[in-house]
Formats: sequence, C-alpha cells, structure tokens
Amino acid sequence: MERCFLCDETRTAKCRECKSVHFCHLHRSSHKIGENGSCSFIRSEKFGDAGRGLVATKDYSPGDVVFALKPATLGPCVRSQVQCVNCLMVLHDKMTCSKCSLPVCDTKCERGEHHQAECQVLQKIRDGLKDQQGGRNLYKAEIKNLTSAVMTIRLFSLKWRDPGTWNLVSMLMDHDGNPELWKSILQAYKSILIKDPRFEENELKRVFGIQCTNGANLHLPPTHGRGVGVYPIFALLNHSCMCNSETLESAESHSVVVKARFKIETGEEISTCYLKPEQATFARRQFLFNKWNFWCSCRRCSDPSELGAFSGGMVCLNGRCGGLLLPCSPLEEISPWFCQDCRTQFSWHQISNILEQTLLEVESAGSGGSVERLEELIFTLRQYLYHTHYMLIQVEQRLLLQYWDRSKGNKEKISRPVLDRIIQLSKNILVQQERTDPGESRQRRILEEIYYSSILERGCKDFKLGVITREKLQNFILCKQARMKI
Ligand SMILES: [Zn+2]
Ligand SMILES: [Zn+2]
Ligand SMILES: [Zn+2]
Ligand SMILES: [Zn+2]
Ligand SMILES: [Zn+2]
Ligand SMILES: [Zn+2]
Repeated sequence: MERCFLCDETRTAKCRECKSVHFCHLHRSSHKIGENGSCSFIRSEKFGDAGRGLVATKDYSPGDVVFALKPATLGPCVRSQVQCVNCLMVLHDKMTCSKCSLPVCDTKCERGEHHQAECQVLQKIRDGLKDQQGGRNLYKAEIKNLTSAVMTIRLFSLKWRDPGTWNLVSMLMDHDGNPELWKSILQAYKSILIKDPRFEENELKRVFGIQCTNGANLHLPPTHGRGVGVYPIFALLNHSCMCNSETLESAESHSVVVKARFKIETGEEISTCYLKPEQATFARRQFLFNKWNFWCSCRRCSDPSELGAFSGGMVCLNGRCGGLLLPCSPLEEISPWFCQDCRTQFSWHQISNILEQTLLEVESAGSGGSVERLEELIFTLRQYLYHTHYMLIQVEQRLLLQYWDRSKGNKEKISRPVLDRIIQLSKNILVQQERTDPGESRQRRILEEIYYSSILERGCKDFKLGVITREKLQNFILCKQARMKI
C-alpha cells in the first residue's frame, strides 16, 4: 500500500479526483488545500536530523498556488495588553465572559468561534469549583494565568475537537519556549486545568513548545493586540534564506496562501523564509539559531557572495586597496575574511570589531536623524562597508523616506539634485532587494512608486526645459503605468 501523503500510515485510499495522491482517513480533507479547495500536490518527507519537510509532487511555475490553509488554531499572544480572547481587540473596559470569566468584548465574542475551545473546558471546571469552599476565589486568582494559557489550551483541545488536525500538530517540532510564560501556564495547570482529566503536564509542555516553535505572528490592525496562529502543514516547510515560495496572509480570515516564487520541480523541497532576508549571513544565522535552534546552511548561507547579494561585504582594511572583503567559510562562525583583490586575510575579531562600531553608529543616527546626518553617515560607512552591505542599505532606506516625506505635496518644487538623489537611492535599494528577496512585496511596491514617480517628475522638468522630446516624456508615463498596474 502507498503511504499517506502527510503521515506514515499505509492504510490509505487514492484520491478519486486527481488519481495520484494517497491519504489516510485522518488526512483526506488536508489533501484539498489546493487553489479554491482543489487537490494539492505535496508530500511530507523525512530529512535526516532536520525533521520533516514538504516536497512538490508536480511542477510549479512562478505564481502558482501550492496550497492555501486556515490556521489550525489562533489566539492571543500574552506579551500584549489586555485583549479580547476571541477577536484579539485591545480592551478598554473590564468585560469578561459570563461563563469562564476571561476577557472578551461583548456577548458576541463570548459566543465567538475561537473562544469556545477554552470556554467549554473552563466553564465546567468553574462550575465544579463553585460549591467547594474557597473554590470561587481559587478560580478568580488564576484568571491571569489562564488568560496566558488560552493559546496552549486551544491547541491542546484539538485532541478531542479535531483529531485529524491534532495528529498534524503533534508531528511538529517543539523546543523549550519562553520560561516565564511556561511558569504561568504551569501554575494555571496545577490549580485549575488539572481538574479536567484530559490534560496532562508533559503533554501540555510539549504543546506549549510546539506553539512557541511554530506559532506565526498574525498581521492585525492597530486596534488589536498581538496574536499567533499555528498552521500545521505550513509549519512543515523548512527554512531557506533564498526560499522558492512566498506566503500571503489574508487580513480577514488569517488564512495563508503559499505560492511558487521560482519554478519548483517534482521532487524538489518547498522552502519558506523565517526572517527578513536582507541581512548578512552571520546575522541571519545567529538569529535563526537563537530563535529556532539551528544553524542554517542553505545555498545562500554557504556561498561567500550570498548568491551575488554581498549583503555582508566589507571594504579591504589595507590602506588604498578598496577591494571586497568576504568570509572564507561563511558556515564557520569565526571564519577569517579575505580580500578579493589583494588576497590579504583578516581575522573575524578584526571584522566583528568594525561591525560592532558600525552598528552603534547606525543606531545612534536613529530613525529621526536629519537628512544631513544620514548623508554624512552614508559617506562614513562607505569607507568600510561594501555598497551592498545591509546596514548601508538600511540607512539609505531611511534617508530615501526622509527625502520623500519632505517633498510630499509639492513634488514640482523638489530641487534637481534631490530628485536625482531620490532616483539613485530608490534604484539602489530596488536592485539590492531583487538580489536578496525577489518577487512582489508591499515594500517593493512603495519603492517602485517612489522610483517611477520621480523618474516621471524629472522627465516633466526636462521637457519643460526643452531637454527631452514629447515622445520621450510619453515613454516615462507609459513605463510608470505599466509598472504600477501589477
Ligand atoms: Zn495521514
Ligand atoms: Zn486529489
Ligand atoms: Zn472581541
Ligand atoms: Zn468564556
Ligand atoms: Zn541560510
Ligand atoms: Zn585588499
């Protein structure tokens, strides 16, 4: 018998529609996560120590939907202010659920779909405690800890609410999560949750670990607190700093859609990126290790040039050489660096000293730095950072936005040199973004808007001066329209 596309079960059935995918009785519905509920063509596979990953079982072209998913569960993130446990809105009044006493907006949220998972569990325990001596106070004293535990209870309760999804969740990796948060949850367990025999301490701890390792931050409007969602099949995607898929989140339902960013061939692993990919290799790898406990060795991390992005490139420390400095072996934390021109080697100690100094300078210029201050900083940084270095690009981005904000409303009045500078900066940043994070993004659209509007503005100025022809100006207009339509 064929194995299920998601788990190791071999008692499977073949899909009658696509006639190619096999699933067990738990994962029949998980197969229909293709575009608009159609069949999907993925398969989970084990990759040595790295755990599981997802592999394509057909070819995908750039832009194709690989799968679309609702979160298995979503919930509040305890670091935030007091928020409704159902809709995650920040609460200004002290409204609580009449059944379980957790914070909610109103009776609508009290009956809300997300809240039912923990409400049913807690209501029963609270009712049981009512008749016991001191029971009411015992429950009341734990409300804060129980609120911290909402997401973990929701995830745990999938065990009886939705066994198929529970099975997917239990396949996920877990690492120790935030110890402070675990302390509150454990306290809530020991005094309240323990009264429901379905809860068990070790299993609760593992679920908490799964939540911390796999929980994705939800994009919520500013009126809301913070929230996380766990997307089991999505969470099987492994990380690459140059991943072949891109993920979009719907603002309303928090569903995610995973699309192919490049061509993905049958049998190829589908990867996603757990971080903002602009940073240099040493910074990305350290971040991934701190947060997800692994040292990345993807294509981009293993390549000293970072696949041509040179996000960590420095300028040779040898007087007038001016050559490009790159790490000899980027996968070694303390690898020496060497100059591409004069071949001199420098120790990681020398390099990291400069980087620490640079970081301080960049931070002290802050986001409120004046354009003069930022221009000066860029001039200084260019003496030891290669022009594609991520810290330099960060400062350029800040400077660009300052120029752009200043000129808002009276674009005609922008001086020619400032207009030239805006065009130069936005082009620079766009080119670098194409190397580190190709494809569509909100940030890219903003940059393109700035770039093409400025090109057009400059064209208008040149036309008025008689420097360019009407045809040339029309070209700029068409060019802008073509880009902005996408
Ligand atoms: Zn299965
Ligand atoms: Zn099918
Ligand atoms: Zn609410
Ligand atoms: Zn409730
Ligand atoms: Zn990497
Ligand atoms: Zn050199």
